[in-house]
Amino acid sequence: MTNRIKTNSIDNTNTINNNSKEKIDLSIVIPIYNERESVDRLYKELDKSLLKLGIDYEVIFIDDGSVDGTYNKLLEIHKKNSSYKIIRFRRNFGQTAAISAGFNYSKGDAIITLDADLQNDPQDIPVMLNKLNEGYDIVSGWRKNRKDKAITRRFPSVIANKIISKLTGVYLHDYGCTLKAYKREVVKNIELYGEMHRYIPAVASWMGVKVAEIPVTHHSRKFGKSKYGISRTIRVILDIITIKFLLSYSQRPIQIFGLVGLFSGTVGFIITAYLIIMRIFFNQGLADRPLFILSIFMIFIGIQLITMGLLAEITMRIYHEAQEKPTYVIKDIIS
Ligand code: UDP
Ligand code: MG
Repeated sequence: MTNRIKTNSIDNTNTINNNSKEKIDLSIVIPIYNERESVDRLYKELDKSLLKLGIDYEVIFIDDGSVDGTYNKLLEIHKKNSSYKIIRFRRNFGQTAAISAGFNYSKGDAIITLDADLQNDPQDIPVMLNKLNEGYDIVSGWRKNRKDKAITRRFPSVIANKIISKLTGVYLHDYGCTLKAYKREVVKNIELYGEMHRYIPAVASWMGVKVAEIPVTHHSRKFGKSKYGISRTIRVILDIITIKFLLSYSQRPIQIFGLVGLFSGTVGFIITAYLIIMRIFFNQGLADRPLFILSIFMIFIGIQLITMGLLAEITMRIYHEAQEKPTYVIKDIIS
Protein backbone atom coordinates (compact mmCIF):
# COMPACT_ATOMS: atom_id res chain seq x y z
CA MET A 1 0.00 0.00 0.00
CA THR A 2 1.25 3.41 -0.77
CA ASN A 3 0.91 5.41 2.34
CA ARG A 4 3.11 8.36 1.68
CA ILE A 5 1.13 10.94 3.52
CA LYS A 6 1.61 10.88 7.22
CA THR A 7 -1.67 11.48 8.91
CA ASN A 8 -0.69 12.08 12.47
CA SER A 9 -3.66 10.37 13.92
CA ILE A 10 -6.75 8.72 12.68
CA ASP A 11 -9.01 8.30 15.67
CA ASN A 12 -11.64 5.66 15.93
CA THR A 13 -14.40 7.92 14.65
CA ASN A 14 -12.37 8.09 11.47
CA THR A 15 -11.84 11.81 11.47
CA ILE A 16 -8.43 13.03 10.64
CA ASN A 17 -6.73 15.34 13.02
CA ASN A 18 -3.45 16.86 12.18
CA ASN A 19 -2.13 16.88 15.68
CA SER A 20 1.20 18.56 15.13
CA LYS A 21 0.35 21.67 17.04
CA GLU A 22 2.31 24.18 15.03
CA LYS A 23 -0.11 26.60 13.42
CA ILE A 24 0.37 28.11 10.02
CA ASP A 25 -1.17 31.12 8.34
CA LEU A 26 -3.17 29.59 5.54
CA SER A 27 -4.60 26.25 4.47
CA ILE A 28 -6.01 25.79 1.01
CA VAL A 29 -8.53 22.95 0.84
CA ILE A 30 -9.22 21.47 -2.59
CA PRO A 31 -11.67 18.61 -3.21
CA ILE A 32 -10.71 16.77 -6.35
CA TYR A 33 -12.47 14.01 -8.20
CA ASN A 34 -11.31 12.82 -11.60
CA GLU A 35 -9.62 16.05 -12.67
CA ARG A 36 -6.35 14.63 -14.00
CA GLU A 37 -5.95 17.14 -16.81
CA SER A 38 -6.36 20.12 -14.53
CA VAL A 39 -3.84 19.18 -11.86
CA ASP A 40 -0.62 20.48 -13.44
CA ARG A 41 -2.05 23.85 -14.33
CA LEU A 42 -3.75 24.15 -10.99
CA TYR A 43 -0.42 23.57 -9.26
CA LYS A 44 1.32 26.20 -11.38
CA GLU A 45 -1.35 28.79 -10.76
CA LEU A 46 -1.55 28.07 -7.06
CA ASP A 47 2.20 28.22 -6.69
CA LYS A 48 2.35 31.56 -8.45
CA SER A 49 -0.36 33.08 -6.34
CA LEU A 50 0.74 31.61 -2.98
CA LEU A 51 4.44 32.43 -3.23
CA LYS A 52 3.59 36.08 -3.72
CA LEU A 53 1.79 36.13 -0.38
CA GLY A 54 4.96 35.49 1.61
CA ILE A 55 3.18 33.58 4.38
CA ASP A 56 3.24 30.00 5.68
CA TYR A 57 0.75 27.92 3.80
CA GLU A 58 -0.27 24.38 3.04
CA VAL A 59 -2.39 23.06 0.22
CA ILE A 60 -4.52 20.02 1.03
CA PHE A 61 -5.84 18.03 -1.89
CA ILE A 62 -8.62 15.64 -0.99
CA ASP A 63 -8.72 13.00 -3.66
CA ASP A 64 -12.34 11.93 -3.50
CA GLY A 65 -11.92 8.45 -4.94
CA SER A 66 -10.62 9.47 -8.38
CA VAL A 67 -10.14 6.63 -10.83
CA ASP A 68 -8.49 8.53 -13.68
CA GLY A 69 -4.96 8.81 -12.34
CA THR A 70 -5.49 12.10 -10.51
CA TYR A 71 -3.82 10.62 -7.44
CA ASN A 72 -0.53 9.92 -9.23
CA LYS A 73 -0.49 13.46 -10.54
CA LEU A 74 -0.99 14.74 -7.02
CA LEU A 75 1.82 12.54 -5.73
CA GLU A 76 4.19 14.07 -8.24
CA ILE A 77 3.34 17.49 -6.90
CA HIS A 78 3.78 16.38 -3.31
CA LYS A 79 7.23 15.04 -4.15
CA LYS A 80 8.19 18.37 -5.67
CA ASN A 81 6.74 20.43 -2.87
CA SER A 82 5.79 19.00 0.51
CA SER A 83 3.53 21.94 1.34
CA TYR A 84 1.11 20.20 -1.00
CA LYS A 85 -0.52 17.40 0.95
CA ILE A 86 -2.92 14.70 -0.09
CA ILE A 87 -5.76 12.98 1.68
CA ARG A 88 -6.96 10.08 -0.38
CA PHE A 89 -10.45 8.71 0.14
CA ARG A 90 -11.12 5.02 -0.37
CA ARG A 91 -14.03 5.78 -2.63
CA ASN A 92 -16.05 8.75 -3.82
CA PHE A 93 -17.69 10.25 -0.74
CA GLY A 94 -18.71 13.56 -2.29
CA GLN A 95 -17.49 17.11 -2.25
CA THR A 96 -18.86 17.94 1.20
CA ALA A 97 -17.10 14.98 2.81
CA ALA A 98 -13.90 15.95 1.02
CA ILE A 99 -14.07 19.51 2.27
CA SER A 100 -14.86 18.29 5.75
CA ALA A 101 -11.77 16.04 5.75
CA GLY A 102 -9.69 18.97 4.55
CA PHE A 103 -11.03 21.16 7.37
CA ASN A 104 -10.24 18.53 9.98
CA TYR A 105 -6.71 18.12 8.76
CA SER A 106 -5.92 21.77 8.19
CA LYS A 107 -3.71 23.83 10.49
CA GLY A 108 -4.17 27.28 9.00
CA ASP A 109 -5.51 30.31 10.86
CA ALA A 110 -7.31 31.04 7.63
CA ILE A 111 -8.78 28.33 5.45
CA ILE A 112 -9.71 28.78 1.82
CA THR A 113 -11.67 26.26 -0.23
CA LEU A 114 -11.33 26.09 -3.97
CA ASP A 115 -12.44 23.85 -6.84
CA ALA A 116 -9.82 21.76 -8.57
CA ASP A 117 -11.19 22.18 -12.08
CA LEU A 118 -9.66 25.65 -12.68
CA GLN A 119 -13.11 27.25 -12.67
CA ASN A 120 -12.08 29.24 -9.62
CA ASP A 121 -9.00 31.38 -10.03
CA PRO A 122 -6.15 31.07 -7.52
CA GLN A 123 -5.38 34.73 -8.21
CA ASP A 124 -8.39 35.59 -6.09
CA ILE A 125 -6.78 34.06 -3.00
CA PRO A 126 -4.92 37.24 -1.90
CA VAL A 127 -8.08 39.30 -2.30
CA MET A 128 -10.07 36.87 -0.17
CA LEU A 129 -7.35 36.87 2.46
CA ASN A 130 -7.21 40.66 2.62
CA LYS A 131 -10.93 40.82 3.15
CA LEU A 132 -10.69 38.23 5.92
CA ASN A 133 -8.00 40.31 7.59
CA GLU A 134 -10.36 43.27 7.61
CA GLY A 135 -12.17 41.41 10.37
CA TYR A 136 -14.64 39.14 8.62
CA ASP A 137 -15.14 35.53 9.70
CA ILE A 138 -16.22 34.31 6.28
CA VAL A 139 -15.51 35.76 2.86
CA SER A 140 -17.66 34.21 0.18
CA GLY A 141 -16.86 34.34 -3.51
CA TRP A 142 -19.51 35.55 -5.92
CA ARG A 143 -19.22 34.24 -9.47
CA LYS A 144 -20.73 37.41 -10.84
CA ASN A 145 -19.96 36.37 -14.37
CA ARG A 146 -20.59 32.67 -13.99
CA LYS A 147 -19.53 30.42 -16.85
CA ASP A 148 -21.91 27.49 -16.46
CA LYS A 149 -24.98 26.33 -18.35
CA ALA A 150 -27.83 28.82 -17.97
CA ILE A 151 -30.91 26.63 -17.66
CA THR A 152 -29.68 23.69 -15.65
CA ARG A 153 -27.22 25.50 -13.41
CA ARG A 154 -27.40 29.29 -13.28
CA PHE A 155 -31.15 29.76 -13.23
CA PRO A 156 -31.92 27.27 -10.41
CA SER A 157 -29.00 28.76 -8.53
CA VAL A 158 -30.42 32.30 -8.64
CA ILE A 159 -33.69 31.07 -7.14
CA ALA A 160 -32.01 28.86 -4.54
CA ASN A 161 -29.78 31.75 -3.45
CA LYS A 162 -32.78 34.04 -3.04
CA ILE A 163 -34.67 31.50 -0.96
CA ILE A 164 -31.80 30.53 1.28
CA SER A 165 -30.86 34.18 1.82
CA LYS A 166 -34.41 35.03 2.82
CA LEU A 167 -34.79 32.02 5.10
CA THR A 168 -31.49 32.35 6.91
CA GLY A 169 -31.04 36.11 6.90
CA VAL A 170 -27.53 35.71 5.47
CA TYR A 171 -27.84 37.45 2.12
CA LEU A 172 -25.45 36.08 -0.51
CA HIS A 173 -25.73 36.00 -4.28
CA ASP A 174 -23.79 32.83 -4.68
CA TYR A 175 -23.85 30.20 -1.97
CA GLY A 176 -22.66 27.62 -4.49
CA CYS A 177 -19.26 29.17 -5.12
CA THR A 178 -16.64 26.90 -3.58
CA LEU A 179 -14.11 29.70 -3.39
CA LYS A 180 -14.63 30.87 0.16
CA ALA A 181 -12.34 31.92 2.98
CA TYR A 182 -12.93 31.12 6.64
CA LYS A 183 -11.38 31.96 9.94
CA ARG A 184 -10.34 28.86 11.75
CA GLU A 185 -12.95 29.21 14.57
CA VAL A 186 -15.78 29.04 12.07
CA VAL A 187 -14.59 25.83 10.50
CA LYS A 188 -13.89 24.17 13.82
CA ASN A 189 -17.36 24.89 15.14
CA ILE A 190 -19.48 23.32 12.44
CA GLU A 191 -19.96 19.86 11.08
CA LEU A 192 -20.79 19.16 7.50
CA TYR A 193 -23.29 16.63 6.23
CA GLY A 194 -24.98 15.87 2.92
CA GLU A 195 -24.41 18.66 0.42
CA MET A 196 -23.96 21.27 3.10
CA HIS A 197 -20.55 22.66 2.32
CA ARG A 198 -22.10 25.35 0.16
CA TYR A 199 -24.23 26.60 3.01
CA ILE A 200 -21.52 27.08 5.59
CA PRO A 201 -22.19 30.85 5.82
CA ALA A 202 -25.82 30.12 6.67
CA VAL A 203 -25.06 27.22 8.99
CA ALA A 204 -22.38 29.26 10.74
CA SER A 205 -24.75 32.19 11.21
CA TRP A 206 -26.00 30.55 14.42
CA MET A 207 -22.65 31.28 16.03
CA GLY A 208 -22.73 34.93 15.02
CA VAL A 209 -20.35 35.38 12.11
CA LYS A 210 -19.47 38.41 10.05
CA VAL A 211 -19.82 37.52 6.40
CA ALA A 212 -18.55 39.41 3.36
CA GLU A 213 -19.14 38.64 -0.28
CA ILE A 214 -16.75 39.66 -3.04
CA PRO A 215 -16.94 39.11 -6.80
CA VAL A 216 -14.46 36.53 -8.05
CA THR A 217 -13.33 35.39 -11.45
CA HIS A 218 -15.00 32.33 -12.91
CA HIS A 219 -13.80 30.36 -15.90
CA SER A 220 -15.61 27.82 -17.99
CA ARG A 221 -14.52 24.25 -17.53
CA LYS A 222 -11.57 23.44 -19.78
CA PHE A 223 -11.06 19.78 -18.96
CA GLY A 224 -13.28 16.93 -17.84
CA LYS A 225 -16.92 17.48 -17.05
CA SER A 226 -19.06 18.77 -14.24
CA LYS A 227 -19.99 16.21 -11.62
CA TYR A 228 -23.41 17.74 -11.15
CA GLY A 229 -26.53 18.39 -13.22
CA ILE A 230 -30.10 19.51 -12.80
CA SER A 231 -30.79 16.71 -10.30
CA ARG A 232 -28.85 18.64 -7.70
CA THR A 233 -31.67 21.19 -7.53
CA ILE A 234 -33.85 18.72 -5.65
CA ARG A 235 -31.11 17.96 -3.17
CA VAL A 236 -30.55 21.66 -2.72
CA ILE A 237 -34.21 22.18 -1.85
CA LEU A 238 -34.10 19.41 0.76
CA ASP A 239 -30.94 20.90 2.22
CA ILE A 240 -32.62 24.27 2.48
CA ILE A 241 -35.41 22.71 4.56
CA THR A 242 -32.83 21.04 6.81
CA ILE A 243 -30.86 24.22 7.29
CA LYS A 244 -33.93 26.27 8.09
CA PHE A 245 -35.01 23.68 10.62
CA LEU A 246 -31.59 23.39 12.21
CA LEU A 247 -31.13 27.14 12.43
CA SER A 248 -34.54 27.96 13.80
CA TYR A 249 -35.70 24.94 15.74
CA SER A 250 -32.90 22.48 16.44
CA GLN A 251 -32.71 23.70 20.03
CA ARG A 252 -36.49 23.61 20.50
CA PRO A 253 -38.02 21.14 18.04
CA ILE A 254 -41.30 20.88 19.98
CA GLN A 255 -42.00 24.48 19.02
CA ILE A 256 -42.41 23.59 15.38
CA PHE A 257 -43.73 20.02 15.57
CA GLY A 258 -45.94 20.89 18.50
CA LEU A 259 -47.33 23.99 16.83
CA VAL A 260 -48.38 22.16 13.69
CA GLY A 261 -49.56 19.20 15.78
CA LEU A 262 -51.65 21.38 18.07
CA PHE A 263 -53.24 23.13 15.12
CA SER A 264 -54.10 19.88 13.38
CA GLY A 265 -55.36 18.24 16.57
CA THR A 266 -57.48 21.22 17.58
CA VAL A 267 -59.11 21.56 14.18
CA GLY A 268 -59.75 17.80 14.15
CA PHE A 269 -61.28 18.02 17.61
CA ILE A 270 -63.57 20.91 16.67
CA ILE A 271 -64.80 19.10 13.57
CA THR A 272 -65.44 15.94 15.60
CA ALA A 273 -67.40 17.93 18.19
CA TYR A 274 -69.47 19.48 15.42
CA LEU A 275 -70.17 16.06 13.90
CA ILE A 276 -71.19 14.60 17.27
CA ILE A 277 -73.64 17.44 17.81
CA MET A 278 -75.02 16.92 14.32
CA ARG A 279 -75.38 13.21 14.99
CA ILE A 280 -77.00 13.41 18.41
CA PHE A 281 -79.18 16.49 18.14
CA PHE A 282 -79.92 16.68 14.44
CA ASN A 283 -79.90 12.98 13.72
CA GLN A 284 -77.54 13.25 10.74
CA GLY A 285 -75.63 10.11 9.71
CA LEU A 286 -71.83 10.02 9.90
CA ALA A 287 -71.03 7.05 7.71
CA ASP A 288 -70.85 8.80 4.33
CA ARG A 289 -69.26 12.06 5.49
CA PRO A 290 -65.70 12.74 4.30
CA LEU A 291 -65.45 15.34 7.06
CA PHE A 292 -65.64 12.53 9.59
CA ILE A 293 -62.58 10.82 8.13
CA LEU A 294 -60.76 14.14 7.89
CA SER A 295 -61.36 14.93 11.53
CA ILE A 296 -60.03 11.57 12.68
CA PHE A 297 -56.97 12.04 10.47
CA MET A 298 -56.28 15.47 11.86
CA ILE A 299 -56.47 14.29 15.45
CA PHE A 300 -54.10 11.41 14.70
CA ILE A 301 -51.65 13.62 12.84
CA GLY A 302 -51.76 16.09 15.71
CA ILE A 303 -50.87 13.43 18.25
CA GLN A 304 -48.14 12.06 15.96
CA LEU A 305 -46.54 15.44 15.47
CA ILE A 306 -46.52 16.33 19.14
CA THR A 307 -44.99 12.95 19.97
CA MET A 308 -42.39 13.48 17.25
CA GLY A 309 -41.58 16.88 18.71
CA LEU A 310 -41.04 15.32 22.12
CA LEU A 311 -38.77 12.64 20.64
CA ALA A 312 -36.83 15.34 18.82
CA GLU A 313 -36.42 17.20 22.13
CA ILE A 314 -34.94 14.07 23.69
CA THR A 315 -32.66 13.48 20.69
CA MET A 316 -31.45 17.05 20.80
CA ARG A 317 -30.59 16.76 24.48
CA ILE A 318 -28.74 13.49 23.89
CA TYR A 319 -26.82 15.11 21.03
CA HIS A 320 -25.62 17.97 23.17
CA GLU A 321 -25.10 16.13 26.44
CA ALA A 322 -23.51 12.92 25.20
CA GLN A 323 -20.94 14.83 23.18
CA GLU A 324 -20.65 17.69 25.62
CA LYS A 325 -21.49 20.08 22.87
CA PRO A 326 -22.43 23.48 24.24
CA THR A 327 -25.46 25.24 22.86
CA TYR A 328 -23.47 28.45 22.52
CA VAL A 329 -20.19 29.71 21.13
CA ILE A 330 -18.01 32.09 23.15
CA LYS A 331 -15.99 34.84 21.54
CA ASP A 332 -14.01 36.13 24.54
CA ILE A 333 -13.90 35.64 28.28
CA ILE A 334 -12.47 38.46 30.40
CA SER A 335 -11.83 37.34 33.93
N1 UDP B 1 -15.78 17.02 -6.55
C1 UDP B 1 -15.43 16.12 -5.56
N2 UDP B 1 -16.25 15.05 -5.33
C2 UDP B 1 -17.42 14.86 -6.01
C3 UDP B 1 -17.78 15.82 -6.98
C4 UDP B 1 -16.95 16.89 -7.22
O1 UDP B 1 -14.40 16.26 -4.92
O2 UDP B 1 -18.11 13.87 -5.76
C5 UDP B 1 -14.90 18.17 -6.81
C6 UDP B 1 -14.52 18.37 -8.25
O3 UDP B 1 -13.37 17.63 -8.61
C7 UDP B 1 -14.29 19.84 -8.32
C8 UDP B 1 -15.29 20.41 -7.32
O4 UDP B 1 -15.61 19.33 -6.45
O5 UDP B 1 -12.98 20.18 -7.92
C9 UDP B 1 -16.52 20.96 -7.99
O6 UDP B 1 -17.09 20.02 -8.83
P1 UDP B 1 -17.66 20.41 -10.27
O7 UDP B 1 -16.69 21.29 -10.98
O8 UDP B 1 -18.05 19.15 -10.98
O9 UDP B 1 -18.96 21.24 -9.89
P2 UDP B 1 -19.50 22.55 -10.63
O10 UDP B 1 -18.35 23.51 -10.77
O11 UDP B 1 -20.01 22.09 -11.95
O12 UDP B 1 -20.57 23.04 -9.70
MG1 MG C 1 -16.56 23.20 -11.57
